[in-house]
Amino acid sequence: MDILSLSRWRSTCRVNYAQGTSSLQRTLTDHLRAFVPSVHQLVDIVTAHGGVFGGEIALSFILRDDPYRPPTLEIYSSYSTHAKLCKSILENPSIRTHIENYAFSNNTLFRSVHRHIVSSLVVHLTNGRSIIVHQSYTSSPSAPISRAPCTALSNFVTPYSFGCSHPALTFARRALLADKELAIFSPFDFEALDRLLARNFSIAVSPSAWPEYRRIFEDGLLWSPEECRRDRFVCPNQGRFFGDKGSMVGYFDPLGADEERCMKNNVAPFGPMVIWRMMTTFECDDGCDYLDEALDHGVASIPVLFRKDEFGELRDCISDGRTRTSPLYRYLKRGRSFSV
Ligand SMILES: [Zn+2]
Repeated sequence: MDILSLSRWRSTCRVNYAQGTSSLQRTLTDHLRAFVPSVHQLVDIVTAHGGVFGGEIALSFILRDDPYRPPTLEIYSSYSTHAKLCKSILENPSIRTHIENYAFSNNTLFRSVHRHIVSSLVVHLTNGRSIIVHQSYTSSPSAPISRAPCTALSNFVTPYSFGCSHPALTFARRALLADKELAIFSPFDFEALDRLLARNFSIAVSPSAWPEYRRIFEDGLLWSPEECRRDRFVCPNQGRFFGDKGSMVGYFDPLGADEERCMKNNVAPFGPMVIWRMMTTFECDDGCDYLDEALDHGVASIPVLFRKDEFGELRDCISDGRTRTSPLYRYLKRGRSFSV
């Protein structure tokens, strides 16, 4: 069962809720067990240091019914917690025995600014797989996820929550490419894109590559909406954040107060996050680069601290009257389009 169907099914009764919640947790555990047998210890270490799982492992979690088993586990940490997180992983007795070798690598300032990754610890495991622990350029462990090579890799998973920035595209095996960054894509990035293509992903720069996002002209008349598909959150120039109406944010155990845990402990989608637009050569004819409510022209991302919006302050800051973009937490207690 795909993640949306499972989430809807578990909302039908308490029994289904318990089974659905366990199934979601098993999905994450199964994916992580391919790397280290002591999954819970790894999860505890990452959680204790405020890290999140991203990259292909988060995508494989989102595409839970796809037998997608990426060779690399990517973990993201904030700038300040990276050293302690790496030390904890390398020195943990149950993980250490499975490490073949490891190395640290530092990015240039140029690459750090562009990818929001300052340095990385690459751990090669005895089973042939790898763990990469990225150090964010900022206090947000999720910031590098906003600079993923394509939208299919813009997802996060924590023990309490998970998010997907472009679920409508990702579930349809489509991805928008951050082609402006092609020159700094690493061999690892290209390998990840190759694996997406091998899994029948369609990767494009413009959403008009796919029929339902094209404008329809017949007899000299425009039959589709005059605006870009900003209303469907696929315009590469619009500002996005985990929690907007085009994204999917879910919790493993919402009735068990996972959402409140994330709020209290600054775990994604709460706490230090970013609002971003893609690094793309795509130019929106409808001015999303100029008219976005959150991001000024030329701004690629801004750091934000997302908290519960009890007084509507976020709504005042981030609401978008043109397209009725949802303020972050207006739908906190109600279902959002892709809220699970
Ligand atoms: Zn647009």
